[in-house]
Amino acid sequence: MSLLTVGSVAFDAIETPFGKTDKIVGGAGTFISLAASYFVQNQNIISVVGDDFPKDTLNLMNSKGINTDGIQIKKGEKTFFWSGKYHNDMNTRDTLLTELNVLENFDPVVPMNYNSCEFLMLGNLSPLVQSTVIERLENRPKLIAMDTMNFWMDIAMEDLTKTISMVDLLIINDEEARQLSNEYSLVKASKIIRKMGPELLIIKKGEHGALLFHKEDVFYAPALPLEEVFDPTGAGDTFAGGLMGYISATQDVSFSNLKRAVIYGSAMASFCVEKFGTQRLLELTNEDISSRVNQFVQLANFDINVLAK
Ligand code: AMP
Repeated sequence: MSLLTVGSVAFDAIETPFGKTDKIVGGAGTFISLAASYFVQNQNIISVVGDDFPKDTLNLMNSKGINTDGIQIKKGEKTFFWSGKYHNDMNTRDTLLTELNVLENFDPVVPMNYNSCEFLMLGNLSPLVQSTVIERLENRPKLIAMDTMNFWMDIAMEDLTKTISMVDLLIINDEEARQLSNEYSLVKASKIIRKMGPELLIIKKGEHGALLFHKEDVFYAPALPLEEVFDPTGAGDTFAGGLMGYISATQDVSFSNLKRAVIYGSAMASFCVEKFGTQRLLELTNEDISSRVNQFVQLANFDINVLAK
């Protein structure tokens, strides 16, 4: 088994200028593993839900090659619930409610058959849970990637810095990079953050694309200009799922392959925002993905003769 994801499997309620949903299935782990399912045939997930979570969704995940043995189902308890409202520009959102429920005392269990995973994606969760999973794995994966958010910087900075020091790749957005490093310039921030441990850093800039930093190299991937962004929830997680799915499928962690992985991640994220929740991620074809990746290639492709005096 190549890819293991740790992340919330949740209910979300979302409000955007285009409409409003009741409780729908969401969660970082859900978006990551669904996006990765287009690249890897078998993968594993570690999470926790209450017995209010629909069995159909777990069955659907199984049908997409996602082994859910590592999702604990807590009897008589409620699934994590998050609700958010987007502003008119869709770039900013307010969290209206975070009900941790089963996530509050989550003690991740690594099933025996998960131990051989080669790639680990730690979705946004308590940094203590993230580091616990790393410690409980028998073998260190080839590449450990991690997402986090300002919520954990505010309440669990000590645990967070410990976890960050254990991973190879940190994936955060520009605002989070600035908060974590206390530095406005993203180039300076990237140096400070990489000194904390991870050799690789991705800074996501929403509709302005993403930056990949490694040693002295920087790669910039644009985001696809879309006519309409319907619901950005889960775009960051979907980016991570596409990226890690591609890396797991190609088994290549060289910088040139990571650049391709960032493009695949960006392509998957561009689908995610086209409908509410996970809806769009459930209906893609391989042709949809290839043609979107081609659009990315065209977007940033130009001929130039650099003039030199
Ligand atoms: P994103 O839009 O990429 O930030 O991801 C949104 C997803 O993250 C939603 O589906 C939420 O269920 C989930 N989420 C939001 N806050 C948290 C949190 N504190 N811990 C774990 N998952 C969360």
